[in-house]
Amino acid sequence: MTTVVRKPAEFRRACDDARADARSVGLVPTMGALHDGHLSLVEAAKIRTDFVAVTIFVNPLQFGAGEDLDRYPRNFEDDLAGCRKRGVDLVFAPAPNAMYPAQFQTNVSIGDLATPLEGECRPAHFDGVTTVVAKLFNLTGPCTAMFGRKDYQQWKILARMARDLDMPVEVVGCPIVRELDGLALSSRNRYLSDTERARALGIVSGLRAAHDAWAEGERHPDALRSLAAKQVQAGFDRVDYVAAVDPDTLVPPTEAPSGLLIAVAAHLGTTRLIDNVVLGADPRP
Ligand code: AMP
Repeated sequence: MTTVVRKPAEFRRACDDARADARSVGLVPTMGALHDGHLSLVEAAKIRTDFVAVTIFVNPLQFGAGEDLDRYPRNFEDDLAGCRKRGVDLVFAPAPNAMYPAQFQTNVSIGDLATPLEGECRPAHFDGVTTVVAKLFNLTGPCTAMFGRKDYQQWKILARMARDLDMPVEVVGCPIVRELDGLALSSRNRYLSDTERARALGIVSGLRAAHDAWAEGERHPDALRSLAAKQVQAGFDRVDYVAAVDPDTLVPPTEAPSGLLIAVAAHLGTTRLIDNVVLGADPRP
């Protein structure tokens, strides 16, 4: 049975009760509009833990001015049906003022990992993410929390935050779930017109080009980056970045890398997509 709670105190109590029952807690934080990418996190949580909690909260703090907060897809009934079908134990869907009551003024902010890539393009974004996830971790208590490597930098930042602040949370990064043609699943894919949907494959073509070159022995970050960038630029209206960085520090490597993160953010019309691959670790996307 899937229980739905709206109030932070109820959510905390339900997680406490599960642990009191000797059940380990798995946490899957989301902004809703659930798709198979999110549901793969639920499956991963079910494998590792006894009691799975999904949070559904479109977090205003992580959207910048002019971003898509207002039009972000919200369909709670569908999300709940998906959670029920997968045997989620608890859904926490708070109202914004339950998470951020009047006078809320605390900000959780982390250092260098939040500076490049998404941090450069979306200045207040990661402060919004770390602040809301810190709250969710505090409400949940000891747990294993699942994040998608689709938001690679976010995953790294949250793992760092949990370690730095001694939060009793194991942060797990799960593989990217893709459509059959390679497009990474995203709540934002529904914004794409048919022609944009076809052009969106430029990202995965770029990631594949870099992955193929790596498999053939290419190790120069700039060469690998350029191969990816060429494909992305051909398909997209505007490219925020195509980066080749160290998968742990997120800065360009200084010597021949044993692994390399190729990370992309680009726009098609009013839709912004991100994707990535870790060369030397991930399968061909
Ligand atoms: P969101 O609702 O977009 O905030 O995403 C919630 C969680 O689902 C995050 O940890 C995302 O990284 C993860 N996620 C989103 N899309 C995918 C995907 N295609 N594959 C794996 N995880 C994903």
